[in-house]
Amino acid sequence: MALIKKGIAASGGIAIGKAFLYEKQKIEINQDEIKDTEIPKEIKKIDDALASYGDELKTMEIDTEVQRQITEAHLNMLDDPFLIDSIHEKIKDKMNAEKALDETIQSMVQMMSALDDPYLKERATDYRDIGERLLYKIKGIEVSDLSSVGPNTIVVSEELTPSDTSTMNKDHVIGFLMDRGGKTAHVSIIAQTLGIPCLIAMKDITSEIKNGDTVIIDTENGDCYIHPEEDLLEDYKKRQQKLIEEEKHLEQIKNKKAITKDGKKIEVATNIGNIKDLEYGLECGADSVGLFRTEFLYMDSDHFPTEEEQLKVYQEAVELLGDRGLIIRTLDIGGDKALSYFEFPHEDNPFLGWRAIRICFDKPEIFKTQLRAILRASAFGKIRILLPMIISVEEIKRAKAIIDECKKELKEEKIDFDEEIEIGIMVETPASVLMAEELIQHCDYFSIGTNDLTQYFLAVDRGNQEIAELYNTYHPAVLRAIKTTIDASHKAGKWTGMCGGFAGETKATKLLLGLGLDEFSAPGASVAKIKDIILNSDQKEAKAYAEKLIAMESAEEIQENLE
Ligand code: PEP
Ligand code: MG
Repeated sequence: MALIKKGIAASGGIAIGKAFLYEKQKIEINQDEIKDTEIPKEIKKIDDALASYGDELKTMEIDTEVQRQITEAHLNMLDDPFLIDSIHEKIKDKMNAEKALDETIQSMVQMMSALDDPYLKERATDYRDIGERLLYKIKGIEVSDLSSVGPNTIVVSEELTPSDTSTMNKDHVIGFLMDRGGKTAHVSIIAQTLGIPCLIAMKDITSEIKNGDTVIIDTENGDCYIHPEEDLLEDYKKRQQKLIEEEKHLEQIKNKKAITKDGKKIEVATNIGNIKDLEYGLECGADSVGLFRTEFLYMDSDHFPTEEEQLKVYQEAVELLGDRGLIIRTLDIGGDKALSYFEFPHEDNPFLGWRAIRICFDKPEIFKTQLRAILRASAFGKIRILLPMIISVEEIKRAKAIIDECKKELKEEKIDFDEEIEIGIMVETPASVLMAEELIQHCDYFSIGTNDLTQYFLAVDRGNQEIAELYNTYHPAVLRAIKTTIDASHKAGKWTGMCGGFAGETKATKLLLGLGLDEFSAPGASVAKIKDIILNSDQKEAKAYAEKLIAMESAEEIQENLE
């Protein structure tokens, strides 16, 4: 009998191969105090290790964008004066180099892990990774790597760091099974980029599998089969073949317009945080951009990006898009998104606090810099403005007054912009749903943010793992809120899109189509699949299906009845 282990899918697909257990040497940290005379020698140890790892990174073969980003991030960390000074200071206090490094890294890891933002949380892995590599250097330990694994290898490990994957033989590795890891962990991102099936959070998979075991990964159900019987193996080989054919099919239809069988045209857009995401989204067949999360521009900078800096990015994006639209969301910071160069006040409930449009109103100079950059970029293509976290008509009026002020300034300065630029709002609060009929009178379109909408409607923190099962967008309350929003926009002759994660959930595509959604904005990987479902659906039939589902009394019942 095959042994079945469960995990969370971080990258989709089926893999059939042989397990390779990738285990790392446990390192003992020297605890001895040093003498004054030894300080220079210990400082040199650290400096040599930093230089040697830096040289290694600079000469490393790089073949994916993610790897380039990781390498760059590591190089920046190695140069970080805060990190270096902190290690040097500890050595000057008579700590040996190994211990000084280890303590500094541990405190960086703790600091990053305590953050709410899952993206920044994952940076803790980078620090652990760097710490490990530097320690190997100081101790003169040779690192085992994944460069020489055989064909059809499924790598099984506690957790893979960016350095581990950088040397990996990408033609031979066909799957990953991890004890730990999150969906935004490096291994998950690498797996998604390379299209390698990956299951994470498998707890003790490293103690269940031995080197050379035959393993099947099926990410659809989060299953991993160890020693599968012949029948199961044959069955999975067939399924794998079917999946390959489906991928070929999606490749063929990805650039088609998504029109239902009875003629309703749906926009299938993508979400981006930078130009690379845009390039990927376009490769995946996206019709346009439904959400540019501009906070990443601010988060990746060490200062508030200037008007010129922002203009450069927005202009590049809109020019890349040609005649396809670009929805730019104004700064949505606060909540779980922090900036290294701006101190946020302590708040007991940051998600209910000083965030997004609220900050922009209090800091009009920051808001206006961004709005001017967006307006100026609108002279080069079809841009729409999207305002986050709106709860009232007054807020739209206030934002529009500031936009008008910027327009007036640009006119006086004789700078071109789109005078008719459309302004939409994120519907992501209960207030905006219940006020949808009034709000739509003051804007051009809605974009539903299901990530926050679900959290605020159900009063379930979107980032709290303890209550993760309660966080469910299929809850009838959330689905009915989506319907109320779409209906209100249609009644006013306007349209509604969705840019929250639910738009990329392809199991819900037909349901959302039936609720009347006009635009889906999803990660690149879901775009072709959404188009395929729309191309094979009938809007009227989908409407009846959606009505039946949202009348049900629980998320469970709805999910059981999904087609
Ligand atoms: C959302 O809330 O659904 C959304 C798209 O915004 P973010 O995830 O950036 O808060
Ligand atoms: Mg949101």
